[in-house]
Amino acid sequence: MKAVSTRHKWGDREERSPLKSETECARCGVVRASLKRFDEHGRGSFWKEFWRDGERLDAGDGMTPPCDARLERQRDAAGLRVPA
Ligand SMILES: [Zn+2]
Repeated sequence: MKAVSTRHKWGDREERSPLKSETECARCGVVRASLKRFDEHGRGSFWKEFWRDGERLDAGDGMTPPCDARLERQRDAAGLRVPA
């Protein structure tokens, strides 16, 4: 089986707030949010979250979920996509 690229094609980063920026994959529509939080001692923690259609994707501890351009093609094949 031929390997399929699972690399996302991230778009421009958009600052949503001083503690949050987002970028969207042009191929599969996953949104990667980069978040920051500071505790009462001023120590910062940083993490990323991945979202699609309002649902959080959980790929496990800080892992990037694979690019789902493949899923998109499967949906096309099944005719489940709403025409533009
Ligand atoms: Zn992607």
